[in-house]
Amino acid sequence: VTKHFPVRSGLPRRGATRKVVHAVDDVSLSLYAGRITALVGESGSGKSTLARLLAQLYPLTSGEVRLHGEPVRAMRGRAFRDHVRKVQLILQDPFGSFNPVATIAGTLKRAVALHHPGKRGKDQAAVIDDLMTQINLVPPRQFTAKYPHELSGGQLQRISIARALAADPEVFLADEPVSSLDVSIRLGILNLLRRLTEERNAAMLYVTHDIASARYFATDTAVMYAGQVVESGPSEEVTQEAAHPYTQLLIASAPDPSRSGADRVRDIGQPPSLIDPPAGCRFHPRCPYAMERCATTAPEPFPLTAGHTVRCWLYADDPEARAKRAENTE
Ligand code: SF4
Ligand code: MG
Repeated sequence: VTKHFPVRSGLPRRGATRKVVHAVDDVSLSLYAGRITALVGESGSGKSTLARLLAQLYPLTSGEVRLHGEPVRAMRGRAFRDHVRKVQLILQDPFGSFNPVATIAGTLKRAVALHHPGKRGKDQAAVIDDLMTQINLVPPRQFTAKYPHELSGGQLQRISIARALAADPEVFLADEPVSSLDVSIRLGILNLLRRLTEERNAAMLYVTHDIASARYFATDTAVMYAGQVVESGPSEEVTQEAAHPYTQLLIASAPDPSRSGADRVRDIGQPPSLIDPPAGCRFHPRCPYAMERCATTAPEPFPLTAGHTVRCWLYADDPEARAKRAENTE
C-alpha cells in the first residue's frame, strides 16, 4: 500500500509543483490469525498512518488491503461494514477516545447496541458484564457506573479494549497501546492483549517505537523507516540477528531496562523529511555502510530465511556487497 498526503501551504501558485508527504510508500505486510506483528519505528515513520489505512480511515493512494484474501476495495454495503467491524483500532491515549460526559456503561451500551442490535435490557447488560470480565475489571458495576475521569489510564485503556471487543473483531490494530501509560502497568495491558489475540485466534498489529517490547510481545516484527518497511520476519530473528543497519541502530540505542530512568531512546539522529525523502535507500544519509548504488537506487526486499526479508543492498550477491556485509557482521 502507498499513502501520499498533499501538503497545503498557502494558495497554489502558477507553475508551483504540488508537494506530497510520502507517509507510507510501497509497504507490504501480512498479519496472521493467532499472531502478533509488531510494527516498530521512530515517530514520523508512517506506522500510525499504516494502521489507519488498514482500518479504512483514509483512502489509499495506491495498492490494496485484503482480508482473508478479499480486496476490501471491492466490498460493498454489508460486506464493507462487516469488514470495518472486524478490524478494530485501539489508540494510544484512552482519555481522548471517550466521551467525558458519558458513564462507562453509557459508552459500552452504545458499542453493544451498534454491534448487537438485537440485544436489549438484561441481555445487553449481560454482554457488558461479559466484556468487563474479559478485561478483568470486576465486579463490572463498580467500574461501569463511573465517568472516564474517575478511572486510571490503565483502567480506561482496558475499557477501550472492551469497546473494541464488542465488535467481535478478527484483527486488532493497537497503536502504541501502552506508551501513554505508567511503566508499571504496561505489562498487564500487553498480556491482556496477547491473551485476547490467542483466545480469539485474532490477528494483532502492535505499533510501537520500542523494539525491546516487540521482542518480548510479538511473534513477528516489521521495522519501518521513512514510510517503508526495511526489515521484517520472526521477532527473534529480527531483534537478535538484525540484518538492516537501521534495525541494528534501533537496537543499539534501545533503553537498557536494567538502568533506572532509562525509558527513553537515546538520540540517534533525525529521520528524514517525508516531503522530500532521500533518493535510493532512504537510510543512506545515516548509514555507515552506504555504497554508491545506495544513493541512487532503492533496494528491493532480499529474502534471508523463511519469512525474514531485508531491504538493503548489503544482501545483494556481488563482491562489493559481500565485502561490506563482512564489515557489518564483524
Ligand atoms: Fe545502508 Fe545501503 Fe543498506 Fe541502505 S541499502 S541500509 S544505505 S547499506
Ligand atoms: Mg504514531
